[in-house]
Amino acid sequence: MSLRVFNVLGREKVDFKPIEPGRVTMYVCGPTVQDYSHLGHAKTYISFDLINRYLRYSGNEVLYVQNITDVGHLLDTGEDRIIKKAKQTAAGSSAQPAALPMQIVESYAKAYFDDMDALGIQRPDISPRASAHIPEQIEMIQTLLKNENAYIADDGVYFDVSSHDGYGKLSNRKRDESETGSRTLKGRGKRNPEDFVLWVIAPPEHLLKWDSPWGKGYPGWHIECSAMSRKYLGETFDIHGGGIDNIFPHNECECAQSEAANGKPFANHWLLTGSLTVNGVKMSKSLGNFTRVRDALEKYRPEVIRAWVFQTHYSNPVDYSDDALAAAQKGWEGIMGAVRLTREALRSAQDSEAGSGFLAVIDQTKAQFIEAMDNDFNAPVAMSVLQTFTTEVNKLLNSGETVGKATLEAIEALYNELGGTVLGIVPAIEATSNADAKRQDGLIRLLIDLRQQSRAEKQFARADQIRNQLKALGVILEDRADGSIYKLEN
Ligand SMILES: [Zn+2]
Repeated sequence: MSLRVFNVLGREKVDFKPIEPGRVTMYVCGPTVQDYSHLGHAKTYISFDLINRYLRYSGNEVLYVQNITDVGHLLDTGEDRIIKKAKQTAAGSSAQPAALPMQIVESYAKAYFDDMDALGIQRPDISPRASAHIPEQIEMIQTLLKNENAYIADDGVYFDVSSHDGYGKLSNRKRDESETGSRTLKGRGKRNPEDFVLWVIAPPEHLLKWDSPWGKGYPGWHIECSAMSRKYLGETFDIHGGGIDNIFPHNECECAQSEAANGKPFANHWLLTGSLTVNGVKMSKSLGNFTRVRDALEKYRPEVIRAWVFQTHYSNPVDYSDDALAAAQKGWEGIMGAVRLTREALRSAQDSEAGSGFLAVIDQTKAQFIEAMDNDFNAPVAMSVLQTFTTEVNKLLNSGETVGKATLEAIEALYNELGGTVLGIVPAIEATSNADAKRQDGLIRLLIDLRQQSRAEKQFARADQIRNQLKALGVILEDRADGSIYKLEN
């Protein structure tokens, strides 16, 4: 079976066919760097990390672009989010007006990458910033004006929604319901409520602005994704990703203006992630019900946060609770227990054919895992395949029968491949390839040997001291019939 994906554009499951076989172009809407990332961001970017990892694992080259919005993401009031944050921040008022918003952008962009790195998310190949692509955005707006898909008003340039038939095809919506009723039009110069801003003419006191044919100002939010995806991925590319909450108006506007400007389809496959909820309500900064990634990482290992995200299909919503995280932790510890047992057994394994019947289980597990992931990246099924495999590994290794080195190596390799490379939940920390981990492992084993020696010499107080001090350092010893093994606590 080959990869099938649920394409939000058209609402159907389709065979995934990249424009160029073996080479996937993917654009994912990135963060507006105005504050620390919360777990809602983590859910989206862990999901696309898995998609990116699996596409590569399946033999594709992937060009993954994810923008950084550092200008132009407007609030309902028409105010730029970053400028608003800059105004709220009293500290650092410097000589140049542009310094404060850029300082905010830098510090939160850095925090964003720190958080995503800590979650084991592989960085996109290109992370372009909106503020560094003003000429490209201006150029696209000029094309839209020339094609009569846009018009100039007193306060900026707007996209004329009525000029483009395709508007509404992604979200099946044409009208921004949030703008109807008592709400006033966002832009003074709009002809229709659905029209959206491409370029905002800035008032003189505005902190960040650039020259344009229509006066000093700054771009609207949607145009950056259209301009930057075209620059790096071309007019038509394979995957457009993001969170479902941005399907309207953001993704719809991107799609309409790109297709109007280029005269070609925009993205062939739209993959959108479900939102993160807390007690059924969307986690968001504006509602104040959010948990920052860095706070969650104080409580849970990154692998546990990933395992929790993978318990639900990426397109579905996930509800956040300590119970859900605790369940994910238990599942992850089960897998890691078997990984450690395998690695431990490998230390004293002999070359033999013993246990080679298990290789069929390994092959079957891999086939089932791939089948699950080929079915629209079905991580919850892939996780359960790994859990079933873990039960089998535990049975084998606790059976008391000898297992040869080749079989143990094949078990470890499968964990490293599926759990490590694809899911990013099985760390290689205790693997022999990492020099620091090897040294740490050697030191712990030296202490285990010394403790054994103390016990043999009936120096029980010293043996207990070694055990307790290791425990204080988060190294838990477990005495077994065949010697002591250790576990590293979170
Ligand atoms: Zn976008």
